[in-house]
Amino acid sequence: MVNVLKWLGVLLLGIVLGYALRDTGLSRVIDERRAEAVGTLASSYIASQTELDDRAQVKTVAGLQHIEVEVDQPAPGVFRASGVGNTFLIRTDEGLVLFDTGLATQAAKHKRLLQDSVPGEVTHIVLSHSHADHIGGTKFWLAEFPDAQVVTHAKFLEGQRYLKDLERHFWSRNRLLYTFMPEEPPEGGMNAYGGITPDIEVAEGEVLTFTLGGVRFEAIAAAGAEGDDNLVLWLPDRRLLFSGDFFGPLFPMVPNLFTLRGEKFRDPLAYVRSLDRLIALEPEMVLPSHFDPISGAERVRQDMQRMRDATQFIHDQTVAGMNRGDSLWQLMRDVQLPPELALSQGHGKVSWNVRSIWEHYSTWFHFESTTELYPVQIRELYPDLAALAGGPEPLAAKARQSLQTGELEAALHWVELGLASQPDHPELLQARLDALKQLLDRAYQQGSNYSETGWLKSRIDATEAALD
Ligand SMILES: [Zn+2]
Repeated sequence: MVNVLKWLGVLLLGIVLGYALRDTGLSRVIDERRAEAVGTLASSYIASQTELDDRAQVKTVAGLQHIEVEVDQPAPGVFRASGVGNTFLIRTDEGLVLFDTGLATQAAKHKRLLQDSVPGEVTHIVLSHSHADHIGGTKFWLAEFPDAQVVTHAKFLEGQRYLKDLERHFWSRNRLLYTFMPEEPPEGGMNAYGGITPDIEVAEGEVLTFTLGGVRFEAIAAAGAEGDDNLVLWLPDRRLLFSGDFFGPLFPMVPNLFTLRGEKFRDPLAYVRSLDRLIALEPEMVLPSHFDPISGAERVRQDMQRMRDATQFIHDQTVAGMNRGDSLWQLMRDVQLPPELALSQGHGKVSWNVRSIWEHYSTWFHFESTTELYPVQIRELYPDLAALAGGPEPLAAKARQSLQTGELEAALHWVELGLASQPDHPELLQARLDALKQLLDRAYQQGSNYSETGWLKSRIDATEAALD
């Protein structure tokens, strides 16, 4: 309580001083300190609400919530502020180059700590893509260095546009998946998403080259695993690759062509083409904007090749199955990575990628039933079906049976049919809870996909609440 009061005091003082000193440099510093105080409050709240996935057999995105904000130096002249997203500052004799600016709630602290380590003028701000955890501090830096050139992929603005237009839609979904998120997106001020205008846009397939203090930089527009607005920064003389989210948050991983929260599909073949370009660079070190750098040319090459081959494999197997006339549902079960292409599915998931590729190429009409063409769904008939089946009891018995034989998906279907006739039926709710818990166990055994476990946990919480 004393802590909260202290932060509130800081906040209040900041607001009063910020108003009195607006339009001066001091006001900017106060804005930053205020943002840092709010961010510290938010971070400790998030940490208190996030349990680490002890059962996760692979590293997942959940670990990002527990990374301390601090500065290290992964390579000479390269400084990193860690956190949910990393901010990198590259020092040259003629100025500083920023790569990504982190999450808004951590950005002010990133900026202060980096500037304590590396004073100087920022001349370029290179942004890897439009996601909030990579551009959150841009406004803080631009407030002090308004002449810095913001460099992005040519598709960055469109990425930012649709994420902003659909902010509320995505926010409500993120709230379910990641329950630590606050109820409302921040509005106005430095913490709000969007409003970044690039000075230099690089078109897909092209490279922006510049030299600063004798250091050569190449900003390469290369569609990646997290979208078509991806830009990486390459330092050819030192073979350093600042990859942003090009590979996704884990290295190496199955690409996340489909996100549970519902963002646009990411084209697997564009990613394969980009991987070929980046493999040809022969990086000595990859510095991603999540988690730690990866060094060693041989390891980096092998992992990048495996990601390329696995992505191509999932794509080709899906296409072959479509041409054979296999159903989508069969392909989601059948397509599996062979052992030599095994990769973490902690963020991307093979079966969801199969479905996304199928529907990307052939859209949502599966030629299975005329009813697919119209908005009346089978669920609307559930109450009548449940009545025909004799009410919730026999359906609860069917659900139990399915649970006993390990048919967890079937159990959920029986439960949903039954609950349509009586939404608070305790036996059905209990069967749902058991099915969800077993699905969660299975998800942990099968790759600990963070979105899948997040969804299942939120459904478990809702079912427990309904049972109470
Ligand atoms: Zn990210």
